[in-house]
Amino acid sequence: MNEIRKDYIAEKYVIFSPKRAKRPHAFRKLKEKDIPPEKCPFCPGNEHLTPKAIKQIPKKNWKVRLIPNKFPALSEVPFNGEEGKGFFKHYKPYGYHEVLIETPDHYKEYHELSMKQLELCFKTLVERYKFLLAKKETVYVTVFKNEGKMAGASLGHTHSQIIASPVFPKKISEKMTASEKYYKKEQRCPYCDIIKAEKKKKERVVSENKEFIVLAPYASTWPYETWIFPKKHISDISCLDNSQQKYLVKTIKKLLGKYAELFGDLPYHIVYNSFPKSDFWHFHIEIYPKLKIYGGFEYFGLYVNEVLPEYAAKKLKF
Ligand SMILES: [Zn+2]
Ligand SMILES: [Zn+2]
Repeated sequence: MNEIRKDYIAEKYVIFSPKRAKRPHAFRKLKEKDIPPEKCPFCPGNEHLTPKAIKQIPKKNWKVRLIPNKFPALSEVPFNGEEGKGFFKHYKPYGYHEVLIETPDHYKEYHELSMKQLELCFKTLVERYKFLLAKKETVYVTVFKNEGKMAGASLGHTHSQIIASPVFPKKISEKMTASEKYYKKEQRCPYCDIIKAEKKKKERVVSENKEFIVLAPYASTWPYETWIFPKKHISDISCLDNSQQKYLVKTIKKLLGKYAELFGDLPYHIVYNSFPKSDFWHFHIEIYPKLKIYGGFEYFGLYVNEVLPEYAAKKLKF
């Protein structure tokens, strides 16, 4: 049965077409092998191959290493706001583009890291997020992880990225507008309401613990896409207390472990959606396993998904 679903609040539609999953090679193995540790700039001993570290914890025999991106999309240049006229407006490429190397171990997958190591990674990311957000010209700080070449990671050695930009990413501003519209009408955070509604329906709940809930969203764009929400209204990643951070890290680890169990070594994106203290923005993490490559039709912003989220939730349950 095919169906067109609308996103919870945004003007985004997805065509569900479960029959298409039966096509041969519907979900290809997209992960590729990587360069050996001797040549890997993220491996200990090769530190000279990267720009000078911003931070190494600990300084000697580091467990995590924060570095500027060698090929940054944005950098610290003087910023003059919007320039140009009419159709031709532009900005100086101001910003920060940094990389967190999450383990000295070349071969460890992210979800295979110990809880202690994952907590250290998370704390380092949050601290840097706060630091970059405090910069005068920064409007938004994007935190994300690409795992595997097909997910856009240029290196297989596990790492996350942080980009501070003087403009909002399109997806964030669209979601923000939709959230604010809902909030103005209902006087409640839309995501708090979504969590409540999905808990009642149960069929798209992947997992739940004291602090977090994992959903396969109603209008998932990608097969097996999941979102992780704190159950309490928290809008910003830096507002999670110690215990909530621990719960979150554990939730991510278990969820990624479940993906690995189902699909093996698969490429994915982790996207952190955070916004400083807001009544209508609810912090959440989106996970996009790359089980397919999108074609021309999706370029228009109308997606075809072969896997209903109810089915994905059942398969991913942990
Ligand atoms: Zn390496
Ligand atoms: Zn909320």
